[in-house]
Amino acid sequence: METTPMGAGDRRPDCIFCRIVAGQAPVSTVFDGDGVLAFMDVNPVRPGHVLVIPKAHRAQIWEMGDAEFASVYRHLPTLVRAVKRAMEADAVDVLNLNGPAGGQTVFHVHFHLIPIHRHDSPVRRDGRSIGFAFEQQSAVRDELDRLAQRIRQAALAPASREPEISRP
Ligand code: AMP
Ligand code: ZN
Repeated sequence: METTPMGAGDRRPDCIFCRIVAGQAPVSTVFDGDGVLAFMDVNPVRPGHVLVIPKAHRAQIWEMGDAEFASVYRHLPTLVRAVKRAMEADAVDVLNLNGPAGGQTVFHVHFHLIPIHRHDSPVRRDGRSIGFAFEQQSAVRDELDRLAQRIRQAALAPASREPEISRP
């Protein structure tokens, strides 16, 4: 695994995710690894909504090296599986809004892991038109901590083969 040490230039005091990495802001941690942090989104669009970030400050993916990106992304199968199990979800959407024009609002690279249940799909298809409708909710820290613990426990369970496709 890549073990590039983080320098001072890899943290921005005005970045909320850098502040979380530095232990200067509240967080409900799901996974704390070498160069990677996963934690509960404070305004989840679904219960169990997790964010995965590189610990080093990178505003967008195009600022990342291939190996650095891979060292973050390699954790997604385990984390996605844990979110799916813990939330008993039919699907887990992985979203990355990359750049202001793409809708990004926090300029520190992050991947949203969003558990989806088939009765509550965010996707609206009408011919060739495809829309996503997500609504952010407020969440209290106790609930985020409880969900983080549930997802952490699900990550520890032995991997079993999940069905390839969940059909609606
Ligand atoms: P994006 O619009 O893709 O840049 O998403 C930014 C995400 O960061 C949103 O889903 C916010 O709810 C989330 N967020 C912002 N501040 C915090 C925080 N302090 N802790 C956890 N999640 C946060
Ligand atoms: Zn940052």
